[in-house]
Amino acid sequence: MYLDFDLHFSDGVSEAFLGSSAGSPYPQVLTLSIHHAAPGFFPASTIAALTDPTDPDFDPFTLCLPLERGASNKTFHRIWPLVERIKDAFQPHYVVVQCGADGLAGDPYATWNWSLTGEGSMGWCIDQICHWKSKMLLLGGGGYNSPNVARAWSYLTSVALDRPLSPEADIPDHGAFPFYAPSFTLDVPPGNIQDQNTDIYLAHVEEVFAQVADAILQRVQKPVT
Ligand SMILES: [Zn+2]
Repeated sequence: MYLDFDLHFSDGVSEAFLGSSAGSPYPQVLTLSIHHAAPGFFPASTIAALTDPTDPDFDPFTLCLPLERGASNKTFHRIWPLVERIKDAFQPHYVVVQCGADGLAGDPYATWNWSLTGEGSMGWCIDQICHWKSKMLLLGGGGYNSPNVARAWSYLTSVALDRPLSPEADIPDHGAFPFYAPSFTLDVPPGNIQDQNTDIYLAHVEEVFAQVADAILQRVQKPVT
């Protein structure tokens, strides 16, 4: 399972594994990209829209969950049970997680308003995945506020090692120390962008992903007995 948290759609990976199940001798790979999609927003792809189980080309192993502007801890906390449901249906042996940090508050893209710590945050999501039975590989990704990217990947590493740093931890003195102003601490707190993921939209996403999970259960490769 490939799970992508980058602000941008995982077009390369998703397209590489699209339709890879049919007649392939290799194990099935499921891709789930959680990203922002809008006209003109990178990358231009016909498959970045919300997965549609009624589409004749629907592939239950190539999944997209776009979020609107301002996506915050609250929105990620709400959609998290869907991610768990997809994982439970697919039962991956391995999970590759792309930890793009461009959805965090303070990124120059200023599109999402995701935080590093707290319930529903990026760190919280990674902690949930650490409790899955699958083996996990964490990758970096996008992220254009360099101090915040360093904060994020340091914190996620500490979470993966089960020795989570305190959000209040001081940034150690080093050559780039001035760039960590004004807080000089580890946390990436939320900004002021309003979360435009409405209850109506998220309820629709929940409905869609319930159907997707059923489709996975019907089509997932059963172990040979
Ligand atoms: Zn990106």
